[in-house]
Amino acid sequence: MDIIPLSVPKLAGNEWKYVKDCLDTGWISSVGSYVNQFEKQTTEFTGAKYAVAAMNGSAALHVSLRLLGVKQNDYVIVPNITFIASCNAITYAGAEPILMDVDVNTWQMDLNLLEEFLQTKTELNNNNCVLKADGRTIAAIMPVHVLGNMCDMEQLMQLASKFNLKVVEDATESLGSTFKGKHSGTFGHIGCFSYNGNKIISTGGGGMIITNDEAIAKQAKHLTTQAKIHPDEYIHDEIGYNYRLVNILAAVGVAQMEQLPDFLKKKKYISDFYKKYLTGIGDIQFQQIEKDVQPNNWLFTIRTSKSKEIFEKLKKNDIISRPFWMPMNQLRMFQNNIYFTKTDIANDVYSKSISIPCSTGISDPHLALVVKLIKECFN
Ligand SMILES: *Cc1c(COP(=O)(O)O)cnc(C)c1O
Repeated sequence: MDIIPLSVPKLAGNEWKYVKDCLDTGWISSVGSYVNQFEKQTTEFTGAKYAVAAMNGSAALHVSLRLLGVKQNDYVIVPNITFIASCNAITYAGAEPILMDVDVNTWQMDLNLLEEFLQTKTELNNNNCVLKADGRTIAAIMPVHVLGNMCDMEQLMQLASKFNLKVVEDATESLGSTFKGKHSGTFGHIGCFSYNGNKIISTGGGGMIITNDEAIAKQAKHLTTQAKIHPDEYIHDEIGYNYRLVNILAAVGVAQMEQLPDFLKKKKYISDFYKKYLTGIGDIQFQQIEKDVQPNNWLFTIRTSKSKEIFEKLKKNDIISRPFWMPMNQLRMFQNNIYFTKTDIANDVYSKSISIPCSTGISDPHLALVVKLIKECFN
């Protein structure tokens, strides 16, 4: 029997042709037309003015924080439910994550809680948002569009502006998701995408920085290419990074972008299929989507008290499912960080959630088999 994977790339377009072109011409590395083309497709698709391709989503997040002036000893607010890369990037920038609990229905950062935190725990000092308890600067908020869903980005941006905070959207999971018709990643000062192996499009590994600010875009390209200032001579004006995406991977990205509209349709189909057949089964709940959000349905996830049984049952049948990320406050590195919460929703969502197969290449019989096995767990 074939293994049914969780979410694997579909490489059915021009990937082979474009990669072959790179190999045939020798343009495989960090300069080349596919990088530019991939960036152009991204600005056209998202409506962002500028896009700068990066080596991966983590690198994109790291450099973005630096671009917005986040520095040693600052704080950055991030949801307690996210993939570790968000908090790692904050740490690479020398800052410390402040963890915010999530909304019980959408599993995104709880904005009412965020507002309460900013109102009661911080103050403006020379137009600088500082934590009252220790006087350290809170430099930025990093909302994460968990599973391709989104929070109310207008409300978040209002709060950010009121408290003079920069915003880096961790949009690594939300290529194709919009709020009020505006693409994820275009609300904040910067947004970042990822193209790792299980994201909605994949370049094997890759990332993108988007922004509407020309100066930030220029600086993003500068910092991701070792901050070299002279076209010929090796003169650099600051500590940069070798974070630029290589042309051979961008070639895969260009081919993947061509198929993105079809991928989005298929992800929607998969989500509709599961919702149709799993609604009302035991205590299964779905991630709630607010009315202004058009999600990309990236990774289909259910919440149920039987998540562990479902995991085991699917595994026995060679079907890959995945537990949710352990909340950041439960990890050794962040257990002493500030975690602002009332009832620790993050832990509840974590302990009951499981992501189930939703590759864009999945067949109806495979979807039906997953549904059947899940239903059997409630008999
Ligand atoms: C995938 C992902 C990243 C990191 O992207 P990479 O390209 O794997 O470095 C960051 N944050 C979240 C929430 C992600 O899901």
